[in-house]
Amino acid sequence: MGHLSGFVNIIGAPNVGKSTLLNALLGEKLSIITHKPQTTRHRIIAIANTDEYQIVFSDTPGIIIDPNYKMQQAMNSFAFSALEDADILIYMIDVKTPTEIMKELKNKISKVSCKKLLLLNKIDLITPEELNELAKKYSEELPDFEMIAISALEKAGTQELLNVIIKHLPEGPPYYPKDQFSDRSERFFVSEIIREKILQLYHQEIPYSCEVIVNSFKEDNQRKDKLVRIGADIVVSRKTQKSILIGKGGSSIKQLGTEARKDIEQFLERKVFLELYVKVKEKWRDDDRYLKSYGYLH
Ligand code: GDP
Ligand code: MG
Repeated sequence: MGHLSGFVNIIGAPNVGKSTLLNALLGEKLSIITHKPQTTRHRIIAIANTDEYQIVFSDTPGIIIDPNYKMQQAMNSFAFSALEDADILIYMIDVKTPTEIMKELKNKISKVSCKKLLLLNKIDLITPEELNELAKKYSEELPDFEMIAISALEKAGTQELLNVIIKHLPEGPPYYPKDQFSDRSERFFVSEIIREKILQLYHQEIPYSCEVIVNSFKEDNQRKDKLVRIGADIVVSRKTQKSILIGKGGSSIKQLGTEARKDIEQFLERKVFLELYVKVKEKWRDDDRYLKSYGYLH
C-alpha cells in the first residue's frame, strides 16, 4: 500500500473536547484548552506524521447557535468551511451534556459524502447504561455516522479512533513537509497563550471583547540564554474594559503578564521578556477593517 494522506475535520459545540482530543492524538499542546467556550476562534491545522501517513486535522471554533457579533458569524463560517474539504468528518458530542444538533448543521452534514464519525466524548463521566441509551438515540438520528465512544481526557478509545481514521485515509502524497506540525507560527501560539490567561483571570464579557496581537518577536542572540523579547497588544472595545484589564495600580495586568510569560517560556523552551499594551478600539468586533486585519474576514 502507498502513502496515505487526508484531511480530518473536527466539528462540534464549544467545550465538547475537540482541542483535548487533538492534543491527545498529537501529544503536543497545540490548541488552547480552557473550561470556557469560544476559546478556539480560528481553524487550527495540526498535522500527524509518520512514514506511512499524514493526517491533517483541523479544530474548528465551536458553532454558536445565535451569533451576536460579526466576529461570531465569522467563527461559524470557519466551522462550516470544515465541512467542505474533509476526507473524514468528525462530529463530536459531550455525552455529559448532549445538546441538540443544529438543524442548519444537520442539513449541511447530510449532503457531505465523506466518511463520517460520531464521537461520543467524556464517557468517563457517565455510566455504561447511559452511554447505551445515547448510542441508541444517535444511531437513529445520524444513521450514516460510524459511532465511537472515547474519553479524550483519559485517552481511552483514542488509539481505536486513530486506527479507524487511518483505515479511511485516501492514498496520496503528503500535503505538507513531514517536519511541519502546524501551519501556525510561534507568534500565533503566543497570542493564544495570552488569550487563554485572559480567559482564566477575567470574568464575563472581558475575555470576549479582547483580541491579542503579537507585534514584535525578537530573539536576543547576543545573550547566552537566547532570550525572546515579545511585545503584544491587547485590544478591547471600551475604555472601561481597559481599566478592568489593567486593574488597581496595574495589579491585574501584572499578574496576567507573569502567568502568560511562564507558559510562553515553557512552550518556547526559552527565557521570555513579555510586554503587554492595552489599546481601545471602539466596537472592533463589528468593524470589517479590524476583523480583516485580525484574520476573521478575508
Ligand atoms: P473544545 O471547546 O471542544 O475544544 O473543548 P476543550 O478541548 O477545550 O475541552 C473543554 C473541557 O472539557 C476542558 O475542561 C477539558 O478538560 C474537558 N474535557 C475534554 N475531554 C474530556 C473527557 O474525555 N472527559 C472529561 N471528564 N473532560 C473532558
Ligand atoms: Mg477548542
